[in-house]
Amino acid sequence: MRKIIVAIDGHSSTGKSTFAKAIAVKLGYVYVDTGAMYRSVTLYALQQQFISEQGEVSEKEIVAHLPAINITFRYNKEKGASDTYLNGKNVEREIRSFNVSQYVSRVSAIPEVRERMVHLQQEMGVHKGIVMDGRDIGTVVFPQAELKIYMTADPQVRAERRYKEMKEKGSDVSFEEILENVKHRDYEDEHRAVAPLRKAPGALLLDNSRLTPEQQMEWFLQQFAKIRMDDY
Ligand code: C5P
Repeated sequence: MRKIIVAIDGHSSTGKSTFAKAIAVKLGYVYVDTGAMYRSVTLYALQQQFISEQGEVSEKEIVAHLPAINITFRYNKEKGASDTYLNGKNVEREIRSFNVSQYVSRVSAIPEVRERMVHLQQEMGVHKGIVMDGRDIGTVVFPQAELKIYMTADPQVRAERRYKEMKEKGSDVSFEEILENVKHRDYEDEHRAVAPLRKAPGALLLDNSRLTPEQQMEWFLQQFAKIRMDDY
């Protein structure tokens, strides 16, 4: 059967990557987490001190060193998912640190960084058979993707999910703070100058406020079945 590209965008904390990974497993496709790529560039910038202790981001230095940043994904059998490698080193855990999360939106707003990442992502999709999630996959990276999905959920529901996760990790952050953060990130993602988060033309809206993971997968398989593979 011919393979397609599945492009998934949407708000933060909607479970995009969990959903994208499950789809990739189901279809036997490759999953690419583009957030991990922007996080890796941010980690590199922190390691090289292109971000000062005062939090000043040197765009010039980051841009000048882009050719030295090599990002790859390697399958981790034990996990049943891929790990992110930065210049040959497994950085899967480090890129999820608070420090990286704090600066990633600043770094991902640099046009040259986006240009490079988009180019790499498009190369990864050359042979199709890929599920990619992010903020601009259906709008910029693969506007021609056969299946584009835009995920959202009620901010209250997303904050509840994150609150539960944080509690399990032992964090004492309050529900109100999390809700505020969810709304703030939506605003930032939708209002940035480069590649703002938008529902791409032709994207299917998936509001999972009241859907279980099984119901989401059922919905996906119905949509997938509607695609006429012969057309591609
Ligand atoms: O998906 P995740 O939360 O790991 O992404 C981290 C950050 O990377 C996002 O908050 C966003 O600023 C940026 N990003 C982006 N474009 C993408 C994926 C992520 O700008 N395609």
